[in-house]
Amino acid sequence: MSRLADPTDASENLAVYSILDLLETSFLTADSAAVLHPSMAEKGQERNRYVRAIKRCPPPLRPEEESHRHSGWRAARRRAICAVRDAGAGPSRLARLAACGAGAHVEHSPTAGVWRIRAHYCRDRACQPCGRARAAVVVANVSPRIDLGRTRMVTLTLRHREGPLLPQVRRLVRSFAALRKSDLWSSRAKGGVWFLEVKRSRDGLAWHPHMHVLVHGRFMSQVQLSDEWRKVTGDSYIVDVRIVDSVAEATRYVTKYVSKPVDASVGQNHDWHVEYLRDLRSVRMLGTFGSWRGESILGGRDDPEDWVPMGSLWYLIHKRGGGCDYARHILDQVERGSARGGMPPYRLEVLPAGP
Ligand SMILES: [Zn+2]
Repeated sequence: MSRLADPTDASENLAVYSILDLLETSFLTADSAAVLHPSMAEKGQERNRYVRAIKRCPPPLRPEEESHRHSGWRAARRRAICAVRDAGAGPSRLARLAACGAGAHVEHSPTAGVWRIRAHYCRDRACQPCGRARAAVVVANVSPRIDLGRTRMVTLTLRHREGPLLPQVRRLVRSFAALRKSDLWSSRAKGGVWFLEVKRSRDGLAWHPHMHVLVHGRFMSQVQLSDEWRKVTGDSYIVDVRIVDSVAEATRYVTKYVSKPVDASVGQNHDWHVEYLRDLRSVRMLGTFGSWRGESILGGRDDPEDWVPMGSLWYLIHKRGGGCDYARHILDQVERGSARGGMPPYRLEVLPAGP
């Protein structure tokens, strides 16, 4: 049965596309789909059932979904999953990691005019696309606090030492806590956010953990900071202080450290990668201090409440491949990155049969 849909009527498109997709992917039964079908877009209760059903039953990752989410880091992803496995992860973490991006549905908010993809996301720290999503949230939370002229980027390093990673990271975290209590720091830094980064030294013989900090406050000289850092660490004095010139620069800085699951110098070697994941399992990779403490850096932003499912990602990709303008328009909106835009201007001429 073919149906003509009004392209401005999101619920019409939703009803036909989504239910077919849900049936296709077998994570709803025909009965539950029949219950949901007529009013899924209009009735909140039905919509909640649909969301709960998707959450409960993670489907396998389809090739189209894998390609959409993971094509940019296939080899690194394979290495990451092997390293997570060998670092002692249980089957559920591995399954979540392997299925990240499955059950992907495109959704549209008519009131906000934005698009997004809802899917099973692993949110694992070893997952690159989840890291990018986390970085976008941190950037959105940090950007409004950047005060040009009063925000600085500070790097604190530890002298290279051979030996296991975890004691060195703990020492770095302890030293940073001691630095924050010093007169120099407390008189000049009001608050900020820190990010932990771990590399291997150039000769590959030692771990090289360091702290990148966005600091809001008054001028701090590199020489004084270096002296203070040597006092609290006993042996390390290499520090860097730079003023933030633009919000874009701060955004790049944050994105760089939050989105990267592992530095390339570590990820290239399986044993180092495993040690990194195992040792840092319970170590926080970022945090706030001073007047920024308690501010939600990873918290959600205001989210529209009227998300309307527009069809499963794999099906839209499949339709676009067949020349469907409607699917192409929707995927353009989603893939452009801004994920902001209106409903498709195209009529959807032939829809698959309804349930
Ligand atoms: Zn993920």
